[in-house]
Amino acid sequence: MYGLKVEPAAFQPKSFMARAITLAVVAVPFVATVFAIVKLWQRDVVPVDIVMMVVMYLLTGLGITVGFHRFATHRSFQSNRVVEFIMLALGSMAIEGDVIQWTADHWKHHKHSDKPGDPHSPLEGLWHAHVGWFFKSARGVPAQDARHLLKDPVAGVISRTFLFWAVLGIAFPYFIDGWRGVLWGGLVRVFITHHITWSVNSICHQFGRRAFDTDDFSHNQWIVGVLGLGEGWHNNHHAFPESAFHGMKWYQIDLSGYTIWLLEKLHLITGVRRVSPDRMQRKRIA
Ligand SMILES: [Zn+2]
Ligand SMILES: [Zn+2]
Repeated sequence: MYGLKVEPAAFQPKSFMARAITLAVVAVPFVATVFAIVKLWQRDVVPVDIVMMVVMYLLTGLGITVGFHRFATHRSFQSNRVVEFIMLALGSMAIEGDVIQWTADHWKHHKHSDKPGDPHSPLEGLWHAHVGWFFKSARGVPAQDARHLLKDPVAGVISRTFLFWAVLGIAFPYFIDGWRGVLWGGLVRVFITHHITWSVNSICHQFGRRAFDTDDFSHNQWIVGVLGLGEGWHNNHHAFPESAFHGMKWYQIDLSGYTIWLLEKLHLITGVRRVSPDRMQRKRIA
């Protein structure tokens, strides 16, 4: 296990301290975004802040979708260690938890989708599926739900240094535009990333269309598809979790899929997993 010490209980948000930290991670970006809207009203924002927010949203968001989700959790492609390091470091800057815990939670979600044991099914309420589940104890356990990552030295290093990457993602904008940079490139950007990612768990298990016959309530929801860098084509994803591409029609915009395609063309990644049209057809219901 490359010396990685994982104590499952330590990851469970049961203690008062763990709950308080989780609450701060959820609430601070929200309060900062309300403050930013007031500042916007007062025209106290410069173009560089908005550009930084968008660029950092794309980079750290792809860190989550391509790095944490399609690579670390589902192994939809193979990567060399340098590319993996960059992807997982960027994903950590989104402040959605370290990659090993993120993977454990998501793996458990696929294992029990919309059934007892699913950490975030909207069957327990939309709010629960969106953020409430962070405060409950049905989280994934790395030793059970992310075993494959415990053997991955890069994931181990990035996971142990999570705090560094999280702080770097907030501190970097300071060097561009001081505290105003921290507000837009740091906190507002984290708020947007959080709620779009969490919408995949809440909205995409309740609203949208179903194209494939799956044993859960996953839906394709186009707004989350576009804003979530392809993750909103969630029924497609539950039908074929190993697929590197979640957009399965030309009009299903999948920025993460396009990024994977580009990385493959540049020979930076290999073994990209695709679903054959035949297999797709057999599962299709619409
Ligand atoms: Zn799902
Ligand atoms: Zn998944």
